[in-house]
Amino acid sequence: MYNRKKPLEDIPEENTMIWSCEKEGCKSWMRDNFAFEHVPTCHICQTPMVKSMKMLPALNNSNGDLKLLKKGVQI
Ligand SMILES: [Zn+2]
Repeated sequence: MYNRKKPLEDIPEENTMIWSCEKEGCKSWMRDNFAFEHVPTCHICQTPMVKSMKMLPALNNSNGDLKLLKKGVQI
């Protein structure tokens, strides 16, 4: 019998703006979306964070967006 195992959907990654902790050994970072307008500080070591880029799965593929897309199409 053929096992129909669906592979996990590939989530496209995009270069995302993040804030990351400068302190050596501290791996803390956060998406820019969740940051405030001023420079955030690391919640672990209180070091001011620096902007950088990171490849992250795109957040735009949620079901909510799909619903929005369908809303625009008259059936
Ligand atoms: Zn830190």
